[in-house]
Amino acid sequence: MSNDRIGFVGLGNMGLPIARRLLDAGLKLVVHDLNPKAVAEAQSRGAEVAGSAREVADQVSLVFISLPTPEAVNAVTLGSNGLIGGKAVRTVVDLSTTGPKVEMAVGEALAARSITLVDCPVSGGVAGARKGTLALMAACPRPLFDEIDPLLAHFGKRFYVGDQPGLAQAMKLINNIVSATALAVTSEAMVLGVKAGLDPDTIIEVMNAGSARNSATVDKIPNFVLTRGFDFGFSAGLSAKDIRLCLELGEQQGVPMILGNALRLLMGITRQRFGDDTDMTSVCRTVEEWAGVEVRGRAAAS
Ligand code: NAD
Repeated sequence: MSNDRIGFVGLGNMGLPIARRLLDAGLKLVVHDLNPKAVAEAQSRGAEVAGSAREVADQVSLVFISLPTPEAVNAVTLGSNGLIGGKAVRTVVDLSTTGPKVEMAVGEALAARSITLVDCPVSGGVAGARKGTLALMAACPRPLFDEIDPLLAHFGKRFYVGDQPGLAQAMKLINNIVSATALAVTSEAMVLGVKAGLDPDTIIEVMNAGSARNSATVDKIPNFVLTRGFDFGFSAGLSAKDIRLCLELGEQQGVPMILGNALRLLMGITRQRFGDDTDMTSVCRTVEEWAGVEVRGRAAAS
């Protein structure tokens, strides 16, 4: 890269810990976010602050973005004060879950201004972002991937999935529908087991030693439901967005998404009941309310 400073727009649950890893590695960042608290936190760790995405793109050749929705990605990249108008920017690495449709459109619009979009969503949650153990899936020209790989290495394990923006988004959406379905079905099973008289910690121990082991039994249920914390760090609103984008992709490709549609209903009810900002693990609370029992583990008591 021609410039030693790196841009970062979107310092939320994921963006802030990812940006911190770059700062901790001694890299210089120019950051922007609408949330002054997030900006102040990055500034206190040495980041320079810019007033808009355009101001970031005026100063650096490579910009990471980690934004909540396809609409936010559109605004930050192509909007009137967006990256596209920046004087220095040549590469935009989108770490958000944006969906293939918007990612392809943004990629095309940026390419018309000689800016290359790296479609690079991530998986592994806030804990993975903090520890640098995310799974990153990237779609862009192979030589560019090889060039930025040392930077991506700060965040976790990298997978090159193809050269067209949108492909990595498809990978991310199918990953997330599996992960959210596992959470939903494990929540139902936990509530049923508890109502039938089983101990919740024992259920998890048996499942993790047996064939039901999955990302919910290993992490989300024991660490965020049994504790009653419901603070995994991914909102039900954003999870519902990923489910919707995946179902749209299924429709476009002519693939029936029967379980995915049931999941959309359950996540939708959870958002209605507990709000968009509630953690995705609140899905278990929705099932609990129906059944009239709580999945409360030993950790909640201590
Ligand atoms: P978040 O809502 O916590 O953070 C988004 C940040 O973007 C906020 O700080 C917000 O102020 C900022 N923002 C929004 N619009 C902006 C704009 N126009 N200009 C500047 N800043 C703007 O979301 P998150 O949980 O960090 O997720 C970010 C992306 O990563 C999403 O696409 C999400 O689907 C994906 N993701 C999240 C997780 C997770 O566990 N949280 C895991 C993998 C992927």
